[in-house]
Amino acid sequence: MKLSDRVEDLPNIGKKTAERLRKLGIEKPKDLLTFYPRNYEDRSRVCTIFEAPLADGKVCVRGMLRGEPVTARINGGRTMVKATVCDGSADMEVIFFNQPYVKSALKRDREYVFFGKAEAGYGKRSMVNPLFEESSAHRKTGALTAIYRGTQGLSPGVVSGAVSEVLAAASGEYEETLPYEIIDKYRLCTPEEAFTLIHKPQSWDDVKKARRRLIFEELFMFCLTTRYVGRREKTRGVKLSPVDMEEFYRLLPYKPTGAQKRAVLDGVSDMCSGERMNRLLQGDVGSGKTLVAAALSFLAVKNGGQAVIMAPTELLAHQHFETLCGVFEKAGIKCELLTSDMPAAAKKAAKERIKNGEARIICGTHALIQQDTAFKEPYLFVVDEQHRFGVRQRAALSEKAGSAHFMVMSATPIPRTLTLMLYGDLSLSVLDERPPGRKPVLTYVVPEEKRAGMFGMIRDTARSGGQTYVVCPLIDDGETQDDRKAVSTVSEKMKKMLPELRIGLMHSRLKAAEKEEIMDRFSKGELDVLVSTTVVEVGTNVPNARIMVVENAGSFGLSQLHQLRGRVGRSTEQAYCFLMSEDKNGGSERLSVMCKTDDGFKIAEEDLRIRGPGDFLGDRQHGAPEFAIADLASDMRVLACAKEEAERLFERDSDLSRHPQLLARVKKLISYADGTMN
Ligand code: ADP
Ligand code: MG
Repeated sequence: MKLSDRVEDLPNIGKKTAERLRKLGIEKPKDLLTFYPRNYEDRSRVCTIFEAPLADGKVCVRGMLRGEPVTARINGGRTMVKATVCDGSADMEVIFFNQPYVKSALKRDREYVFFGKAEAGYGKRSMVNPLFEESSAHRKTGALTAIYRGTQGLSPGVVSGAVSEVLAAASGEYEETLPYEIIDKYRLCTPEEAFTLIHKPQSWDDVKKARRRLIFEELFMFCLTTRYVGRREKTRGVKLSPVDMEEFYRLLPYKPTGAQKRAVLDGVSDMCSGERMNRLLQGDVGSGKTLVAAALSFLAVKNGGQAVIMAPTELLAHQHFETLCGVFEKAGIKCELLTSDMPAAAKKAAKERIKNGEARIICGTHALIQQDTAFKEPYLFVVDEQHRFGVRQRAALSEKAGSAHFMVMSATPIPRTLTLMLYGDLSLSVLDERPPGRKPVLTYVVPEEKRAGMFGMIRDTARSGGQTYVVCPLIDDGETQDDRKAVSTVSEKMKKMLPELRIGLMHSRLKAAEKEEIMDRFSKGELDVLVSTTVVEVGTNVPNARIMVVENAGSFGLSQLHQLRGRVGRSTEQAYCFLMSEDKNGGSERLSVMCKTDDGFKIAEEDLRIRGPGDFLGDRQHGAPEFAIADLASDMRVLACAKEEAERLFERDSDLSRHPQLLARVKKLISYADGTMN
């Protein structure tokens, strides 16, 4: 058997079992090595019968079978096999339900080890359905035993047996691919030890030792890979000449903030370096990312090129276009808009101007840029992203950009430690300062008994022309119905209490056209209140909206609440955010963070602390990597070390040419990502 054969080639593995293993992602024998145990059962604790703790976890007991096992029929046609075991300290009854074969498996006067939970009843000790083997076997008992994730019809013993086969076959075949300095510095065990101990540990220390290496290795390879992808992107860029940025700043109606200036400098130095810029601009909603994109567009245009700014929705593309026109037209720089909702003739004309270079700054949606649009001299592509993209999607977009510079703008504050996981391929600029003069949204946690008062405030706001969002956690589907307020119940309640208001209702089950119509009416001011699920999170800009009510706020992550709150406070009027909380003690403490700060990064850090990284990493769709053994919630410190070591390695060997084995692994990881992250 070779490790790269098919699992069927393992002894004791038939077609059916192979099929079941495939369901668990195991195609080849070697895949079993990284099929890490879900948990371990401690079968190393051996007690005398007398000392066996009652109803306190499972233990091993070694004893002689006294007499033949007896079979009894019990109700429902089930069988029960009973036998008595003694070890000199006491007697114990072992009882097996529905395992008739035990009768012939257990032999009188032989010694066995039984593993199970000891119980006592009617003055007798007993164990029900214990695991057992002859006391000299030491196969199932005597050590920690790995427990594997299973699937229907696959017995744990089969997986464990197959793993043993593979471990035996792999012995002597392992290669050390991690650099010696790292092994030495972190005192990592060899791969052979790691794989053996993770599957067949004798003690918890063994598990720890194995995990140390495997987790470090997994995270290190991850860091190396993202770093390598970043390096790959960093090559060959259009080399631009610096221009006087003050000239650009004079076009603006306000002064740039310090953070904006720093981000612009980052971008300028990238774009003038001869290497291709591949940068992430991270900044909360309202932090002024557009200005940075505009400044870098100015640099591109002054160098004789074009700049392309891609928005996630047509609405936002329009907004960008208008903003940029306002800044650039007076400097004689032509801006162009290209969206799919434009009339065909206008679209054609726009494409022509983009192609012949008349259009210098082009705004559009991601979709249009990905299609057949031809640019004359694109020097800069900016992607304004609403949802996070995966490395792969980003790579696809940036590939479109060719040798042009590339910047992604993200409005989702992410804790710094996690940025690497999601954007390790990009260099980072952060806008951590807000434009001056903006009033923070006043935020309150509102208990149910104050709802009426809050409704009064919504009424008064509507009278003076202001609008309100009400966001509910989820539409009523069976699962969550009981404690989450459905959009419809909330809107009914409001209609009853505020009959004079115009209330619109929106949820994800409406058709796109219906949603659009309601959104349109709300933004035109034809509705006073919009009750919705979180669909409102995406791309809405209604400056007249002054109140954000979040129903059952405790069921949202803080970062999500922060995003929702960002929908109001977009004018000079004072805005409010009301977080409805039914829970009078614990939950509102968490919510009170929202009342204290409007710094998205602080909130994100707090969210990470309280809820772990799940909200940020989310599922695959959000481009978060999956790990076989590392757990980001608990292995954050290892991640930091792994990253540091990856960086250090790249400093010495920037294309990994001196570490061919690592390079091969990185390439494999990339191709794996290519295949699965699309
Ligand atoms: P976001 O980062 O959410 O894309 P925008 O670029 O849309 O933010 O900017 C938000 C608002 O702040 C806009 O109305 C913009 O005109 C304004 N703004 C941006 N920078 C400044 C600044 N330095 N001083 C004052 N207002 C600014
Ligand atoms: Mg923006």
